[in-house]
Amino acid sequence: MHTHKEWQITLDMARERGWTATVGSNHSVTYVECPAKNPQCRVKAFSTGRGAENAARNSRNKIRNCIHAETGLLETATLRMDSAETFLTATSAELTLRSVGRRAEELLEMLDQVDSALDEAASAVERLGEEFTETAEREQQARDARDRAIEAVGGGTPQEWIVQAGSDLRRAEQDIKGVPKKQPSSGAARKRLDSLKNQCAELRKQISTETSNTDR
Ligand SMILES: [Zn+2]
Repeated sequence: MHTHKEWQITLDMARERGWTATVGSNHSVTYVECPAKNPQCRVKAFSTGRGAENAARNSRNKIRNCIHAETGLLETATLRMDSAETFLTATSAELTLRSVGRRAEELLEMLDQVDSALDEAASAVERLGEEFTETAEREQQARDARDRAIEAVGGGTPQEWIVQAGSDLRRAEQDIKGVPKKQPSSGAARKRLDSLKNQCAELRKQISTETSNTDR
């Protein structure tokens, strides 16, 4: 430390640039030398005396003009790069944390989606299971009805039955044409004939659809 403010600034500047200070034996003078100890770069800082302010300022010019100070500047540069490295490490660590945090949020969201997809799949399994049970019951009923019907017609295939039904209905139509319209229940018979003809046409359509589906 130097008691004079201007000298203090000068000594600080010298130290930053790698200059070394040596206190003289009588303690009233401090010798400051550039890193190369070049005789041209030698500053004497008196602790007292007139003109200290100007002397201190002039010395600063000498320090600035030193062409041997690369070592000091290099040290300063090294310190600044150390500092910069600290900031860069902090920045990188923070950015890494943010990126990892975002990925964690993404994964959480995906887990949520998969979770609700699993829920949906589970309820689909339940729905399909219920429908299968109902369908199996209907299949049993349909099998019973088919067995009874086959017993009534004495065997064959739907293609044969529909042909037989068509032929029966054509004959019935001929018969009904011969019935006087006044005769009771002839209207009901005509209605039934129409209904059966419709049913016959509908079933014929179903058979041909089924056949073309099976062919495919
Ligand atoms: Zn120098």
